[in-house]
Amino acid sequence: MSEETTSSEDDITAIETPVYLTYNFTAGEATTRFLHQVRKGKVMGQRCPGCGNVYAPARGSCAACGLPTSEEVELGNKATVQSFTIVWIPIPNNPIQPPYIVANLVPDGANISFIHLMSECDNDSVHIGQRVEAVWKPEEEWDYAMDNIRYFRPLDEPDVPIEMIGKVPLSGWEGKA
Ligand SMILES: [Zn+2]
Repeated sequence: MSEETTSSEDDITAIETPVYLTYNFTAGEATTRFLHQVRKGKVMGQRCPGCGNVYAPARGSCAACGLPTSEEVELGNKATVQSFTIVWIPIPNNPIQPPYIVANLVPDGANISFIHLMSECDNDSVHIGQRVEAVWKPEEEWDYAMDNIRYFRPLDEPDVPIEMIGKVPLSGWEGKA
């Protein structure tokens, strides 16, 4: 009898079950070194003793050579846009309202990019090779976190050609290699 009742009702094809997870992130040795320096307002990279590439934030080894990266290199406050996206979808609990720019930025003196926000810019004018600089929070708000840098904003400097992105020295970019 109960079978008849069930079969006469609509099939349930989907139910909504939100799942929330809280993570405890164990930084590890290389990231610990990086975060201690960010706490002091410095962005540090680590240089591979094999190929010489500088990684920031470093993971403790070079992905190409497999060698440990122990040499610390202080990086500049300036960076170059390697790629970017304009985010139009709001993220729950994120105070930043779309549309906003998330970019892969290569800091001067480093060879790979990290992801950060761009602001104080016209979203439509952001482009690959654009020069930007970090805007830090007030020092009293610094913590062990990359968001000590609030965002990056455009600089009035010549663009870096695509083939030179990731090769800009710590001394900066004046429009020539
Ligand atoms: Zn290497």
